[in-house]
Amino acid sequence: MARKDEQDEERADLMDPARREDDAALDRALRPERLADFVGQDPVKEQLAIALESARMRGEALDHVLLCGPPGLGKTTLATILARELGSAITCTSGPVVERPGDLAGLLTNLRARNILFVDEIHRMNHVVEEYLYPAMEDFGLDIMIDRGPNARSVRLKLEPFTLVGATTRTGLLTSPLRARFGMTFRLDYYRPDELYRIVLRSAALMAIAVDEAGALEIARRSRGTPRIANRLLRRVRDYAVVKGDGCITGPLSIDALEMFLIDRQGLDEMDRRLLQIIITKFGGGPVGIDTLAVAIGEEADTLEDVYEPYLIQQGYLQRTRRGRQATRLAYEHLGVAVPPDFQSELFQG
Ligand code: ADP
Repeated sequence: MARKDEQDEERADLMDPARREDDAALDRALRPERLADFVGQDPVKEQLAIALESARMRGEALDHVLLCGPPGLGKTTLATILARELGSAITCTSGPVVERPGDLAGLLTNLRARNILFVDEIHRMNHVVEEYLYPAMEDFGLDIMIDRGPNARSVRLKLEPFTLVGATTRTGLLTSPLRARFGMTFRLDYYRPDELYRIVLRSAALMAIAVDEAGALEIARRSRGTPRIANRLLRRVRDYAVVKGDGCITGPLSIDALEMFLIDRQGLDEMDRRLLQIIITKFGGGPVGIDTLAVAIGEEADTLEDVYEPYLIQQGYLQRTRRGRQATRLAYEHLGVAVPPDFQSELFQG
């Protein structure tokens, strides 16, 4: 029994797009360093290239950039690329870590002209700290209180012009005053299989892993549109190839390995299928509210909304209606469940 639990946990880890401890080194090693090496997201790259060029020509700091999208799609990578392209330093932190205004002041006063401050999960920054960020972003000023009691007064400290790069899973989680202070906002989309294929080949070359075209394509198709998952699967399929084959990742070998990890041909993992199954069997196909669904699945509503739902919606298995989440015809077909005769889809417009 314990063995099965362990296996389940390992599989869940494999498909979790959020960064895990053992990913840090892999992420760093495989991270593209220049904009030209960043695969896909062409509209984002084009606009960033122009903004970078303009900042360089003007000799000024790049406008503040907000990157949003599900985990593992390259937000941190883009922030590090921006710094490299500008030839400036980057300081990385995350919303929940900056607990007090003093923490923020420490970070900001250490920045030099045109440096980048990357704040991951910026929507989780507390509101008191966030208010100190407004003048810093707008006028490169920081209001600090000196003295106490009747002598207390606020002094404005001048900061070097810097660029804030914020990352968030959903822009809707940001307060509107914060959102309004970003000069550019980009949404990263799930990657297409042909883009992930290029990422898999690039990573395989960097890690000296032998993979053929069919093998790379199979991994690309089953990575939930997410580079981090593609890189992780590549390593795990390589292990499988070393033990069960001659070390080379071929198409058939990838299929065997990915099936062992319970990732199906459409690239859905166990959690995806469980989510659809529960909507169909427990809630008559929906619509069901996200909180009710989260309780039934035993997962946080935020994780469902940030990680699972967007991919299932994009792939056409799930839709968001006025009254909650609803399984689509495709979901029934995928799970091999008969579509009810009175099945109606109730698309939410807007
Ligand atoms: P996020 O910050 O959105 O969670 P990361 O920037 O940490 O995601 O990306 C995770 C990993 O995926 C990176 O280490 C990098 O190797 C890879 N990656 C992400 N986007 C790309 C891309 N467009 N091209 C190549 N590799 C990428």
